[in-house]
Amino acid sequence: MQEFDVAIIGGGIVGVAHAYAAARRGKRVVIFERDGRATGASVRNFGMIWPIGLAANLLPMGLRSRDLWRSVLDDAGLPHLDTGSLHLVYREDEETVVQQFVTTSDGYGARWLPAAAVLAMSPAANPEGLRGALWSENEITVDPRLVTGELPGYLTEKFDVTCRFSEPVRSVSGGLVTTARGSVRAAQVIICSGHDFESLYPEVFAREPLRRCKLQMMRTAPQPEGWQLGPALAAGLTLRFYPAFRGCASLAALERRIEEETPEYNRWGIHVMAAQTSMGEITIGDSHEYDLTLMPFDKPEIDELILKYFLGFARLPKPEIVQRWHGVYATHPDKHFLVVDPEPGVRIASVTGGKGMTLSFGFAEKMIGELGL
Ligand SMILES: Cc1cc2nc3c(=O)[nH]c(=O)nc-3n(C[C@H](O)[C@H](O)[C@H](O)COP(=O)(O)OP(=O)(O)OC[C@H]3O[C@@H](n4cnc5c(N)ncnc54)[C@H](O)[C@@H]3O)c2cc1C
Repeated sequence: MQEFDVAIIGGGIVGVAHAYAAARRGKRVVIFERDGRATGASVRNFGMIWPIGLAANLLPMGLRSRDLWRSVLDDAGLPHLDTGSLHLVYREDEETVVQQFVTTSDGYGARWLPAAAVLAMSPAANPEGLRGALWSENEITVDPRLVTGELPGYLTEKFDVTCRFSEPVRSVSGGLVTTARGSVRAAQVIICSGHDFESLYPEVFAREPLRRCKLQMMRTAPQPEGWQLGPALAAGLTLRFYPAFRGCASLAALERRIEEETPEYNRWGIHVMAAQTSMGEITIGDSHEYDLTLMPFDKPEIDELILKYFLGFARLPKPEIVQRWHGVYATHPDKHFLVVDPEPGVRIASVTGGKGMTLSFGFAEKMIGELGL
């Protein structure tokens, strides 16, 4: 029987980041992934490494994670866009929130940029009615499909990590990880199964008030050669979505106005962001529908609302949408992470909410340190 120091279950970004953190410390690591390649939240997202959205208490982990992302990608020869982010501002109440955030929030390093400076930085920003933007240089964009596809091979080549894909794990018990092809022994098992709450230790997941969140996403064809989006873009709706802005007292007025003017955006949990991939496409999203069991059918109405709002703040040379999909992640009403040790030598380690790409490497480093590996 093969023996490993660490067995990771789940080949999404959280599993990959745990494998990296353990392998860097010289551990013999195996990753089990149910599919032939990861097809979950980690390939369906924007690829935004987005410290500006994090609650203040998660910011240090987010910045550390961003630095780890950079060094992994550089070492693996994979691209990332070091462009920072802009929250474009068109309304007075949005400007009030942004100004309050800039003056009261420590550590984010964000500042107010007047419209002319924004337009010099972003060829996509719609100049009509633009008042300015919240600028932050901390955000980077990775290509989620590329990095999730390539990083397992990099881990094998660089650290001799064993990747066993197309191999669902059926059970974990007493240091044995069992699949249809037999068992391996591992001193420490780490379960990074994303929003799969039913396969392993279902009783642990069932004790938590977990739900799933479904997000609709779109992508354009590649933009013309040489045209760059510049900073990843968000706008007023996003200010009411991320915890970073919740400390701003002025947010309540903005939320009231959005509910009065455009309740449909609240109904589907829509806020709108855009990022560029390494192939020049623009990824645009998203919406948020919450339930434990989510229907697989997408709603054209949601896509239309997202695009209408997007085209209010951004202009692209080629705005035609060529791909649509949805993604799902795990959510918890009051925990940023689900960390449970259901038996000795086994840890469930999951990032809940829409921040797993951002926090993956920082979170994994913390977990591996905590486990004394
Ligand atoms: C549309 C969308 C947009 C998002 N945008 C961003 C963003 O821009 N920035 C950001 O920070 N976060 C973003 N997120 C959140 C982020 O994508 C997730 O938090 C993150 O990808 C979770 O990674 P994961 O590895 O836990 O889950 P997953 O990627 O879902 O991976 C879990 C893996 O475990 C495998 N698995 C489960 N059970 C077993 C088993 N028994 N045996 C073997 N394998 C198993 C599954 O097959 C799956 O591949 C977004 C999410 C979505 C859906």
